[in-house]
Amino acid sequence: ISEAVRNQHAIAVAMDAERQMERLYADAMEAVRVREEFLTIASHELRTPLTPLALQIGSLQRALRADPSRLSHERLLGKVEIVARQVARLHRLVSDLLDLSLLTAGNISLHREEVDLAAAARDAAHRFQEPASRAGCALRLSADKPVKGWGDRTRIDQIFTQLLSNAIKYGAGAPIDLRVESDDDVARIVVRDRGIGIPPDQQARIFGRFERAVSEQHYGGFGLGLWIVKQLLDALGGSISVESAPGQGSTFTVELPRREAATDSGSTDTTSP
Ligand code: ADP
Repeated sequence: ISEAVRNQHAIAVAMDAERQMERLYADAMEAVRVREEFLTIASHELRTPLTPLALQIGSLQRALRADPSRLSHERLLGKVEIVARQVARLHRLVSDLLDLSLLTAGNISLHREEVDLAAAARDAAHRFQEPASRAGCALRLSADKPVKGWGDRTRIDQIFTQLLSNAIKYGAGAPIDLRVESDDDVARIVVRDRGIGIPPDQQARIFGRFERAVSEQHYGGFGLGLWIVKQLLDALGGSISVESAPGQGSTFTVELPRREAATDSGSTDTTSP
């Protein structure tokens, strides 16, 4: 009997090991698929701004060589603005790639200090005034009183930038509200748009790496921005969440600690993977 029991046990262990192997294999294949898809998207995204860049610079070169006096100030400015926009887009994409590798390696350095989120919000609203109005979105700011948070000013600026550029990108030209507030323990940044919204089943996924709820290339992007924001907030002892309904818009809420945690060194440090 004991021989039979031992055999049964051995068979069960072998089957379990086989199932585990199958799961590992499926996970590895999925990781390979995601990476390959990311490479395709990344190459496409990096190449897209190059076409208008080359076109505008070529046409500028020809016009300046032929007869610079015939190039009106307005046309010149128009061309330079297209060039500047595409360079900014490339800059953003390359910075995201750099952050991806730093965060994956656990190598991003943070400089923690007390930050006035209201001042950061005003700066961000100022930076985004022009792109928001170009997209037809009214950017409404409510950040009069100082709101102290504990974080890294440069990274907090980056979080504002990501949330506001998403709100404009997916905001369908409707008003966007940017608010900062605090209670006893946490300081909050709230960005509300009234755009395309996010289907309920995709709301948790958008904070994942390479995740894009809207797959059409029309919107562009690596699907990295919110993942980077979430990693930064994890490292800063904060969090991010979203409430959204398709067709009605999205509200992103970031929470940051208000003051230094007892365990916090308060100095420059690095994230761990
Ligand atoms: P991407 O660079 O592709 O925009 P993000 O990480 O910033 O990447 O966002 C991931 C996905 O989440 C986006 O592709 C989009 O589908 C969705 N998303 C992010 N912000 C919004 C928003 N304000 N409204 C609707 N969808 C959004």
